[in-house]
Amino acid sequence: MKTLKIAIQKSGRLNEKSVELLKNCGLNFENYKSSLISPVSNFPLEILFLRDDDIPEYVQDGIADLGIVGENVIEETEVEVTYLQRLGFGKCSLKIAVPNNNTITELNQLNGRSIATTYPVILGKYLKKQGIQSDIRTISGSVEISPGLGLADAICDLVSTGGTLKSNGLIPFADVMSSEAVLICNKSNSESDLIQELVQRIQSVLRAKETKYVVLNVHRDNLQAIIALLPGVKSPSVVPLAEDNWVAVHTVIPERDFWDRISQLKQAGAQGIVVMPIEKIIL
Ligand code: ATP
Ligand code: ZN
Repeated sequence: MKTLKIAIQKSGRLNEKSVELLKNCGLNFENYKSSLISPVSNFPLEILFLRDDDIPEYVQDGIADLGIVGENVIEETEVEVTYLQRLGFGKCSLKIAVPNNNTITELNQLNGRSIATTYPVILGKYLKKQGIQSDIRTISGSVEISPGLGLADAICDLVSTGGTLKSNGLIPFADVMSSEAVLICNKSNSESDLIQELVQRIQSVLRAKETKYVVLNVHRDNLQAIIALLPGVKSPSVVPLAEDNWVAVHTVIPERDFWDRISQLKQAGAQGIVVMPIEKIIL
């Protein structure tokens, strides 16, 4: 059987979450910081640890079959790859920011100004679409200090919390793109059975992350009211308790409306509510 290769970031913001996701898929591998390649002992897969900038091209050229990388890097390298799954981590946005003592408040004031960035391709396309002509200064790092050094009037850089911008006296001014980590594969093999199997494992882990397993006790008189509040995967399981007329209800609740649901359930008569994480949900 063919062994697949998946490229993930060797070290940096996406490394830990990428390793965690693969491990949660039941894949067994050593995560030595020094190795470039690590075989998976219980699935025909090898893990390549690379710089994130190299991942899209490795996947496009078929050196790796799959990759986990930020959408920003894929857009910037302009590769042809297939998107398989958004992964929900590494969320950030590419923003244009200006010094907070600046008078620039509208995009067209960037005409004729200079913008420092490590994302010249994405920024160039964005400015073109907006009909703005700026001087794009491509630099390889520490973009946020360039206005202070007199290198550029504005910057275009990745932001997650905005703390780095703030501490450098910059304020975000325009959103160029938002990004998160995604699973990609080579264009020619998205139909492969092994890749489909891996995607299904990843999806079951992601689904589980979005939901909690909830067990609660309720008097039979209040059971219908409780069931009406539960979305569940299908209908909830109802198990009789030793005490007459009391039952335990087992169900799953989406994380996003968790706190709302819990207080509604309590009001409807739920007691002894136990909430547990879910490892996988296989549909
Ligand atoms: P490498 O050594 O692999 O080239 P890097 O320094 O280019 O690493 P990181 O800073 O580790 O890259 O960021 C990797 C990815 O994490 C980014 O491409 C982006 O998709 C995502 N990311 C999430 N939040 C941020 C942020 N605040 N700043 C930069 N990248 C972020
Ligand atoms: Zn990089």
